[in-house]
This record gives sequence, structure tokens and C-alpha cells, in this order.
Amino acid sequence: MNAYLDYQAAKPVDPRVFDAMKPYFIEEFGNPSSLHLYGYNATKKLEESRQKIAEFINAPSPDNIIFTAGATESNNLAIIGGALRNKRKGNHIIISEIEHISILNIGKYLERQGFKVSRLSVDQYGRINLNKLERLINDKTILISISTASNEIGTLQPIEEIAEIAQKHKVWFHSDAVATQSSVPIDVQKVPFDLLTLSSNEIYGPRGIGALYLKKGVRVNPIIIGGGQEKGMRSGSENMPGIVGFAKAAEIMKAEINTEAARLKKLRDKLIEGILKIPKSYLNGHPEERTPHNANFRFDYIEGESLLLALKDENVEVATGSACSSKTLEPSHTLISCGLLHEEAHGSLLLTLGRFSEEKDVDKIIEVLPEVVRKLRVLSPLTPPKFLEQIKKEVN
Ligand code: PMP
Repeated sequence: MNAYLDYQAAKPVDPRVFDAMKPYFIEEFGNPSSLHLYGYNATKKLEESRQKIAEFINAPSPDNIIFTAGATESNNLAIIGGALRNKRKGNHIIISEIEHISILNIGKYLERQGFKVSRLSVDQYGRINLNKLERLINDKTILISISTASNEIGTLQPIEEIAEIAQKHKVWFHSDAVATQSSVPIDVQKVPFDLLTLSSNEIYGPRGIGALYLKKGVRVNPIIIGGGQEKGMRSGSENMPGIVGFAKAAEIMKAEINTEAARLKKLRDKLIEGILKIPKSYLNGHPEERTPHNANFRFDYIEGESLLLALKDENVEVATGSACSSKTLEPSHTLISCGLLHEEAHGSLLLTLGRFSEEKDVDKIIEVLPEVVRKLRVLSPLTPPKFLEQIKKEVN
């Protein structure tokens, strides 16, 4: 088996989730909109599933949950739907510079529709500055969208404080919680989000299903118009196998998140300690305020893509940046916002752990990486001659 250290990009469905989904493809195929027995059974399961998602984030009621086709759609519904809903109040939205590509592109889209979008900068660790955030708010501001953490460098944001500022100024606070769902418990009664994006695959459920939490009293304009399902906010026949799987995944995650997070943190710390022994290697993101499953590094003089391919030859599967935009040749926008030079951002390696990661996966990369890095540096035109002499000798 290859060592898989790219849980941020895709997670396998938990076999317990898959088992729960199976009957909803064949025997229990009903559409919740139908009035006969099959429809009734589907409605019952739909509402039970909604309740499980509500419990996962400690939402007061299942009415707070709208099912969508994934985190991208939830982000669209929250931000575009929220902007349209509030356009009479104002036209200004605040996001951070290091949001997921879906949010950055929604920002550009809204600008083309006449909205104003401010992009909050971050410090070298990827944290936003609360004073800067507050200074950006004006009487036209209607929405702040800042993720609970970066999916790329793992840095956690001060969400409680952001929510407080948003409340004080009567501005909605939306957060994409995807990067923290699998390792940091969420309690929407403790942190008063107005809108929260959730993804099923992030917690070992199937892909193509997600949810949007809306605080009581918060409504957004639909962006998918049709038969009026999901309280008119998201039309289209419900994806019942997906919803059942998502709910099972949420139930399991709620029960296991604390033990899982502690286990992942131990593995992550071993990874960080082992890899930082490589000369001229650095950790990206915050040293402490980071998600338990994320480790992101950079290495002087080499490129992440060559590292990724060389590790692939060693049966170790890794990433260099956010999977959603990694097929472009652009360096990571997150690392550039943290102040890295283009060549530094290109030398990054993203390692993410998950439920099925084992210590042997961590040991394997710690064992093979030093030699992979050394060999690439020997070939790299960027390696300074003195350092090159030194690393050439290491092999003899
Ligand atoms: N937000 C974040 C933080 C993500 O990492 C991702 C991708 N996993 C998304 C949104 C989009 O998710 P999806 O592709 O499932 O719509």
C-alpha cells in the first residue's frame, strides 16, 4: 500500500458510512416529495439526517440546516445568496486573501455584479488581524466570510472574535468550516456564526453533498431555482444516498472527533519534528494554532512539483497546494499572502493526515524525504555552490 498523505484533497468514504448508504440506492429509492409510502419513508430519513447534521455542530434545530451539493455550492449559496438578500442594506463584503478558491472566485463574480469586495491580508502565519478587520467594516458592509482555518497551511482563525466583531456591527458572519470539520469540534451556539459551510467528504462521507447552516432568522436568496425543496433555498430532488451517508459520517465524527484529533496531532508532530531535521526546511503556517492533521513545509532551492513526483516514485502520495487549484502553475495564493517569495512558495509540500493514516506512513516519508530533497538540490540550478559541495559530500 502506498503511503497516502493528501487527506485534504480527498478522503475515502468510511465503510460504516457506505453500509448506511447502500439501501438508499435500491430498496429505499423514494423521493421525499412523493406522497406515497416510499416518499413518506424518504421524508422521514431526510429529516432524521438533517437532525444528525444539526447535532454535529450543536445547532439548536434541524431547521437550521439546508442540504447542498457540496462545500462549493454552500459557499455560493451563503455569499451570493446572502449578498442578494441584503443588497438593499449595502453592497460591501469582506473576505480574507487566503480563502478557498471558490470564495475568491465568488468575490470576483460579485464585483462584476456591482458589489464591493475587500480582501483582508494575513500575517506570516496566515492569521487575520482583528483590528484590520474592524477597520474595513463600513455602513455598507453586509457580510464577512472568513474560513475557520486554511485548508492549505492549517492555520486556525480567531473565529470567536470575528463573530463578536460581526455581531457588534450587525454584519453577517459566514465561515467555510471544511478545513476544521474532521479535527476541531464546532459549536454554533458558542460561536455565533450566521452561516456555516459544511462538506460531507471532509468527514469521510461521500463527495457531492454538503450543507449550509443558517442561524435562526437568517435567510438567503436561492441560487438554484426550481421545485422549492429545502425551504425554497435549494431546489432539486434531494440526493438521498448522499444525505444518509453525510448524516452517518457526522454521527461517527461527533463521537470520535476528540480521540481522532489527539491521535492525528501526535502523528502530525512526529512528522514536523522528523521533517524539520532536513537542512533549510521550514514549516508553513502557524506553529501552534493549526489544525491537528496538517503539516505544510517548504525547502530551499527545490520545487514542490518535483518533490511530489520524486515521492510518488517512492510510493508516497503528497500534495503541493490546494488540490482545487493545483493543476495551475501559479504558486499558492495563500503562501504568497503570508509573504513568501514566488520561488519559496513553489518549494512547498502539503502533508495531511486522516482517519486511516498510520504511524508507518509518517515513518516512511521521514525515512525517504531527506534523500529525495538532497538529490533534487544536487540537480537544482538554484542551489548555491557552497551548499552544493556540502550536500554532495553527504552521499560519500
Ligand atoms: N472549501 C474548502 C476549504 C475546501 O478545502 C474545499 C475542497 N475540499 C471546498 C471548499 C470545496 O469543496 P467541494 O469541492 O466538495 O465543493
